[in-house]
Amino acid sequence: MTGDTFDAIVLGAGAAGMMCAATAGARGKRVLLVDHADAPGKKILISGGGRCNFTNIHTAADRYLSTNPHFAKSALGRHTPQDFIALVERYGIAWHEKTLGQLFCDGSARQIVDMLVEECRNGGVTILLGHPASVIDHGDGQFRVTVNGRERTAPALVLATGGPSIPKLGATGFAYEVARRFGLTIVHPRPALVPLTLGPDDALFRSLSGVSAEIEVGWNKTRFREAALFTHRGLSGPAMLQISSYWQHRTPISVNFLPDGEPDWLVKQKQEQPRISLRRALAAMLPARLTDALVERLALDGELANLPDKALRTAQSRLANWTFAPTGTEGFAKAEVTAGGISVAALSSRTMMAARVPGLYAIGEAVDVTGWLGGYNFQWAWASGWAAGQAIGGQRLATVGGDGGIRTLGRSNPPTAV
Ligand SMILES: Cc1cc2nc3c(=O)[nH]c(=O)nc-3n(C[C@H](O)[C@H](O)[C@H](O)COP(=O)(O)OP(=O)(O)OC[C@H]3O[C@@H](n4cnc5c(N)ncnc54)[C@H](O)[C@@H]3O)c2cc1C
Repeated sequence: MTGDTFDAIVLGAGAAGMMCAATAGARGKRVLLVDHADAPGKKILISGGGRCNFTNIHTAADRYLSTNPHFAKSALGRHTPQDFIALVERYGIAWHEKTLGQLFCDGSARQIVDMLVEECRNGGVTILLGHPASVIDHGDGQFRVTVNGRERTAPALVLATGGPSIPKLGATGFAYEVARRFGLTIVHPRPALVPLTLGPDDALFRSLSGVSAEIEVGWNKTRFREAALFTHRGLSGPAMLQISSYWQHRTPISVNFLPDGEPDWLVKQKQEQPRISLRRALAAMLPARLTDALVERLALDGELANLPDKALRTAQSRLANWTFAPTGTEGFAKAEVTAGGISVAALSSRTMMAARVPGLYAIGEAVDVTGWLGGYNFQWAWASGWAAGQAIGGQRLATVGGDGGIRTLGRSNPPTAV
């Protein structure tokens, strides 16, 4: 092997790419890790408010969106949150559970980046930062990648350049471009875990900018009970970010402002405290500014004693099923992740390798697997990176489509240039 030949070239030194490179390196593979950014793991550094919500102990495939809901099972099952926690603990990084199984560093996200860089170093990974990969050729079982004017070759190429969410951090759709050239299909990429925008009909709610409340939000049969935040543009906060990944344009979402409200709660309030106003009754459950906006919309106020039971029941049912018609999202500029991406149909769920292009792998956010908010996306990055890192070097064998069947693949496709 010369200085320019490797067992694998990993494009993208983010969460998935570093995990993959370190895993393959630890198996004695010679790995080149390339990133156009001047530092690795930039998204990790800003994640979780600077503390990196690095995994979720409730990780399961049903907390991921994908065209094939079974695809993520194999990788998630083989590199689990406990495996990542064990790594974090080996490095003495203190962590805590914040809520809903979400694990954060006590200190800083920098510790996770330093840990992964150290793991790469331990595996002898060559890291090249500040250089995009410009040309990619493929032929005779070798991938040839030009980085900083020099050609590097390897029989394995790993696409780990993420999705286009937060372009100002260096995010691109590069992985899709390369994947397309190799004949892989792309599931339409769209912003996910992203604030929703409201139109003029819901302007009253935009004036609540900064108000947050625990609610239950629903779209079709999907429901999340978490905090929602009103913003000057629309709706944000964990509940809204979660539902945004499912939401489809020109469809409404429903909000239950009284997730703890028992049936007939308002009528019971009337019996127990007839002299209080509807506004006061609601203010016991909701922030004052939100209560004012809702009461204004309900056009129903005054003492409960003066309001008919029927009107109170109608009001409660409206509060439990308030519909908003988002006009859109705040887009990739504000999206924590990208939904869609490289179709899993052509990837092995065990190795992340493209069935028809031996040696070509895709991992992390670049792939059509998108997690809920709360550490699920990093867990997918670690798990898919680990799966590919374990497989590199055995690319003539692939399980296809997650069906457990093993096929021996023939020679690679004809030369391809990107
Ligand atoms: C603000 C924010 C907070 C988040 N917080 C959390 C959290 O707390 N928990 C969680 O689970 N998830 C969180 N996420 C999501 C998480 O960051 C991603 O799911 C994860 O980083 C995806 O890992 P990846 O390695 O696939 O991609 P990335 O981490 O995006 O890495 C891709 C790498 O490829 C590089 N690259 C891109 N294009 C090229 C190119 N053409 N040539 C060379 N290199 C290229 C990029 O510079 C980058 O380093 C957050 C996201 C954001 C934006």
